[in-house]
Amino acid sequence: MKVVIVGGGIGGLAAAVAFHQRGWQVEVLERAPEFTEIGAGLSIQPNGLRALDALGLGDALRSGGLADPPAGIRRADGTWLVRNDITDLRRRFGEWVTVHRAALVDLLRTAVPARALRPGTRVSHVRPDGTVHHDGGTTAADLVVGADGVHSVTRRSLWPQAPGPRYVGYSAWRLIAPPQHVEGSAETWGRGERFGHVPMPDGRVYCYLMANAPIGSRVSLGELRQRFAHWHDPIPALLRSAREEAVAQHDTYELPKLRTYVSGNVAVLGDAAHAMTPNLGQGACQALEDAVTLAAAVDTLGVRAGLAEYDRVRRPRTQMIARRSRQVGAPAHWSSPPLTALRDAALPLLPRALFGRSVTAAYTWSA
Ligand SMILES: Cc1cc2nc3c(=O)[nH]c(=O)nc-3n(C[C@H](O)[C@H](O)[C@H](O)COP(=O)(O)OP(=O)(O)OC[C@H]3O[C@@H](n4cnc5c(N)ncnc54)[C@H](O)[C@@H]3O)c2cc1C
Repeated sequence: MKVVIVGGGIGGLAAAVAFHQRGWQVEVLERAPEFTEIGAGLSIQPNGLRALDALGLGDALRSGGLADPPAGIRRADGTWLVRNDITDLRRRFGEWVTVHRAALVDLLRTAVPARALRPGTRVSHVRPDGTVHHDGGTTAADLVVGADGVHSVTRRSLWPQAPGPRYVGYSAWRLIAPPQHVEGSAETWGRGERFGHVPMPDGRVYCYLMANAPIGSRVSLGELRQRFAHWHDPIPALLRSAREEAVAQHDTYELPKLRTYVSGNVAVLGDAAHAMTPNLGQGACQALEDAVTLAAAVDTLGVRAGLAEYDRVRRPRTQMIARRSRQVGAPAHWSSPPLTALRDAALPLLPRALFGRSVTAAYTWSA
């Protein structure tokens, strides 16, 4: 049996590993000249690690060092708004890892035979019968997996009427700062902007910033330094230590819900199926879950029944997590002073268990 995978990001490569391990002939069509990722960190949460365990790759990530679960949310002056019990989170849900994105892509890529990988191949159209048109010609397969991200050609080919990506109103900047000491990982909320930092096992610090902004606007590192200069330590120092070329800015999009993730012999997964806001840090974790589930369902039940099972199991879960992610992040982008004052007064009064409750469904998945 042959599967063609459109897109060689985390979701597409994870699917390639899963199908290859089940004895399928795999072909990954990736438009970029090489398989890699932007220079930023990525939190792999307990459910994502379990999906990697199902591929036999979880321990390779753990061996690089475990990360602490998120410690909570602070105000710009450093006061804690929400403080998590990280020992309890780890005990209840399992381990967290923070990796460089490119390291995870490398790990997945090297678990697939090199002959299966076709970089520099842009897909232009996918047909439900399993035919894929690309700039190298046409390829046919028993199964096609559209893992081509938020602006997915596969999705547009199959459901041309479905609404496209929606800009959520904020831009995101990601960077890795040079090695320095920071206390655990936490997020800080201001008015319509926030800053998160996550220590990496080698001492470097993955930082992400998000701020309300008109679509397409670009902001330099110098402006970010000014904007966050009066926030609590270590935020100004982290920004001072970063290099301009290490900063990547992307506008943030999510995809409206699809009524199905499958059509004929084709399935979509990862961001192509359910691009979500980054607030729960679950996008890649869900793509990993999708990949493991899809390969198991199709390999066990056959293509058509397996695709139906994949859609039945994955669509409600991923759409629920996308909804929660949107809800959890919304107050971080409130910008009116009365609303943010209300938020900052209310958040410390909420029971600590509430945070756990909002993510329990995400973290407790197992293959
Ligand atoms: C600021 C931010 C922080 C985040 N943090 C986390 C986190 O900590 N943890 C987490 O789990 N998730 C996180 N995410 C989400 C995560 O980055 C994505 O959900 C994940 O990378 C999606 O992977 P994917 O493989 O589905 O899509 P993508 O990574 O977008 O990969 C799609 C691939 O398809 C290729 N492609 C596209 N079109 C074509 C075509 N026509 N032909 C051939 N190839 C094509 C692209 O080049 C690309 O390689 C974050 C997102 C953001 C924005």
